[in-house]
Amino acid sequence: MAAGAWLKECARVVAAERERLTGLDAAIGDADHGANLDRGFQAIVAELDLGDEAEPGAQLVAAGSLLIRRVGGASGPLYGSALRSMGKALSQGADLSTALEQAVEAVEKLGKAVEGDKTMVDALRPAANAMALAVQEGIGVREALDRAARAAEEGAAATTPMRARKGRASYLGERSEGHRDPGATSAALLIRALAATW
Ligand code: ADP
Ligand code: MG
Repeated sequence: MAAGAWLKECARVVAAERERLTGLDAAIGDADHGANLDRGFQAIVAELDLGDEAEPGAQLVAAGSLLIRRVGGASGPLYGSALRSMGKALSQGADLSTALEQAVEAVEKLGKAVEGDKTMVDALRPAANAMALAVQEGIGVREALDRAARAAEEGAAATTPMRARKGRASYLGERSEGHRDPGATSAALLIRALAATW
């Protein structure tokens, strides 16, 4: 288990995709999603011990707390709570699939969003479900994570025609249709980073 490697990969990918994420948020939000996440993940890399010796659960809890403190906007508390819940689950001995489920439930609970609301839940919920199903089928963690990442990517792509029912984009009503959700897009990047590093 390498939570540090995942967090570093998240920081790298978010920095690389910063302009695209901000561009998506410019269409249906306030054009800060890429900047928000970049600030948060750069702080994680700069301020936390991401070495292999540290306990993965504790690293994720610390990273989540930092996101909550440093990222303004809806996504900071949502991703922060997700990482904290995932870390707590891992520290208690849960497997990765269970920990991912806990992370997604934390987002759902805090944001009160369900699939179809055009939020990060549209990428996260299918990812957790795909991972759980793969594990049930006895498939190895690597393949299970790959399926989770693909489910997240498909879920993010499927947000384009949706009308937003949660978050800033919901203020636009039907004008939110035809634009891909920034948070679902970043969520798919973070799950893909997990599959690439865990
Ligand atoms: P803000 O909307 O405060 O500017 P960001 O731009 O960083 O925050 O993040 C926007 C993303 O947060 C949206 O694209 C959406 O995916 C996600 N989001 C917003 N509100 C919610 C919610 N209630 N539940 C789940 N995700 C949400
Ligand atoms: Mg925004």
